[in-house]
Amino acid sequence: RIVVLGSINMDLVVRCAELPIAGQTVLAESSTEFCGGKGANQAVAATAAGGSVSMIGAVGSDAFAGRLLGNLSQHNVSCDAVEQRRGQSSGLAVISVDQRGQNAIMVVSGANASVTRDDVMASKDLIERSDVILVQLEIPMDAVLAGIDIAKKAGVRVVLDPAPAPREFPSQLLAVDLLCPNESEAAVLTGQPVESVADARRAAAQLQQMGAEHVAITLGDQGTLLHRSGESHLIAAFSVNAVDTTAAGDAFAGALATRWSQTDDLYEAVRFANAAGALAASQHGAQASMADGEAIESLLQS
Ligand code: ADP
Repeated sequence: RIVVLGSINMDLVVRCAELPIAGQTVLAESSTEFCGGKGANQAVAATAAGGSVSMIGAVGSDAFAGRLLGNLSQHNVSCDAVEQRRGQSSGLAVISVDQRGQNAIMVVSGANASVTRDDVMASKDLIERSDVILVQLEIPMDAVLAGIDIAKKAGVRVVLDPAPAPREFPSQLLAVDLLCPNESEAAVLTGQPVESVADARRAAAQLQQMGAEHVAITLGDQGTLLHRSGESHLIAAFSVNAVDTTAAGDAFAGALATRWSQTDDLYEAVRFANAAGALAASQHGAQASMADGEAIESLLQS
């Protein structure tokens, strides 16, 4: 079993010829709604990959709330521990994209910002009964730390995707079983540029010094640098025709949590997650691009 503690958002994508400037009104071409949020995306990725997943988080009481919950249920994510907050808006990202592909994004944390330490404590049993807890940083730090603390005391594996990466954080944040930043998040956490595999090796060693038991730095089409027991391995990416790398990182994290809940072999779990990330990059969209276990296995065998 996997518990995902994190954000749930509606992404509203508005396409227009030119982005409006302050005071201007433009006629847009289209608007499309997608269920998102790193927490929800990773929960969907984890179930798609074959995991049995419960989510801890919050939605508001607006029209999006029911759709966000319905979407998670449709993807077989259990929402018993997702709170519905009266009078609040659900997490919302308004993403404007112009014809050149430039974007302007506004994110309303909404109910995601209301997840407290007490909410997480209320799901203590759920966390203690799981094999892996997967967390990101789109909900308050206090709630994240509570989840990590409960899991560690119960011997449940903790996977932290440190996104968005904070410039300042309490040291216990990184004291997890597996930390999986991408290059830019690893750079923020270590305060050093991460632009090459050699940089990633250094950053991973540093992040281990900072408290992480194992570190997996994702490197896009180069794959993943896994730092395990003091040794680092570059685990190659699968070669695919990448059309949209949105949420490749979420696909990676979700699949990794699922595989690592089934095996002790972290190297094998990262290979599985690399395959899930590659498949997500080969499809458009976020949740729509999460691969199922069969597709992941067949890429692994290829
Ligand atoms: P993020 O989306 O967080 O920046 P990455 O782009 O590093 O994360 O992608 C996560 C993982 O997905 C990578 O480690 C890799 O295994 C896989 N992946 C991402 N982009 C590609 C690509 N273009 N081709 C093959 N695999 C990819």
